[in-house]
Amino acid sequence: MLRSTTRLLSRSLLPSARQHYTTKASNYVKIVEVGPRDGLQNEKQLIPAAVKIELIERLANAGLPIVESTSFVSPKWVPQMGDNREVFMGIKQKPGVSYPVLTPNVKGVESAVAAGAKEVAMFTAVTETFNKKNTNCTTAEAVERLRQVARAALDKNLKVRGYVSVVLGCPYEGPVDPVKVAELAKECYDAGCYEISLGDTIGIGTPGSMARMLDEVLKVVPAEIVSVHCHDTYGQALANILKALEYGIRIVDSSVAGLGGCPYAPGAKGNVATEDVVYMLHGMGFETGADMDKLLETGQWISDILGRPTNSRAASALMIAKERQKQQQQQQQQQQQKARL
Ligand SMILES: [Zn+2]
Repeated sequence: MLRSTTRLLSRSLLPSARQHYTTKASNYVKIVEVGPRDGLQNEKQLIPAAVKIELIERLANAGLPIVESTSFVSPKWVPQMGDNREVFMGIKQKPGVSYPVLTPNVKGVESAVAAGAKEVAMFTAVTETFNKKNTNCTTAEAVERLRQVARAALDKNLKVRGYVSVVLGCPYEGPVDPVKVAELAKECYDAGCYEISLGDTIGIGTPGSMARMLDEVLKVVPAEIVSVHCHDTYGQALANILKALEYGIRIVDSSVAGLGGCPYAPGAKGNVATEDVVYMLHGMGFETGADMDKLLETGQWISDILGRPTNSRAASALMIAKERQKQQQQQQQQQQQKARL
């Protein structure tokens, strides 16, 4: 029943979606799963390495092409990621799947290489105050560090992904100038990043601010290498992603079960849930390669371990629908048995 509903939805939406979204850009949207790193790093309870490894493997088996796995950051900063080496080396890597790791500095790159990483990600933020509070440096110093990290990674033949934080608003400085975001995106591009993830770290943006920001960024960086990383604090994440799709963006960061937050951004809610993004994209006729059933199982599994309900509304609704379907089937079977008697 569920499958047919989804099929019906996509059939009715596909013609207009095609006209609107796929004339210029691809019909494939690449999902970058950030739950095991961005999601779990904000968990207060220490998660055992074995659970993290299983989460990463389940996500890859659910058809996700990129699973950001851990962070090679000092455990003093992020205790949750203190087991980075154990986690990364413990993953049974699936061919064709990438497992990037976050490396905030050159030392992180070296540790990542030693553990066998092939791809690293690094970050910087648009505003002075966020950089100060987050990594204790000015934006200019953050850009310099970004260049150094990229150089170190490229020298080791690693792929480098750049994160730009607080692109739609800063918890300390408020609204952010889209021109500043574009400048930083260009810095990442010039530093050799193959992909640039634009983060609405505190989930404050709307389709309006997303459009104004992309208007500037896409003047200096091609849409094909831009990803959007939306948090759902104000319930705007899917709307913001939809706006980005209209701009030809075909890479979306998301986190299974909506895991996450931001330790440096007070009040920031979790990342947009992968299940919600996949539900929307498949409903619009986009391809992602993701297997919704396996994603749902994984989201449920990690939520159970964390002892709280999933943040994914699509997952909650689909689970209820599945439960109802099961009950109906049981009732039908009972009636058939009675009829036979
Ligand atoms: Zn995030």
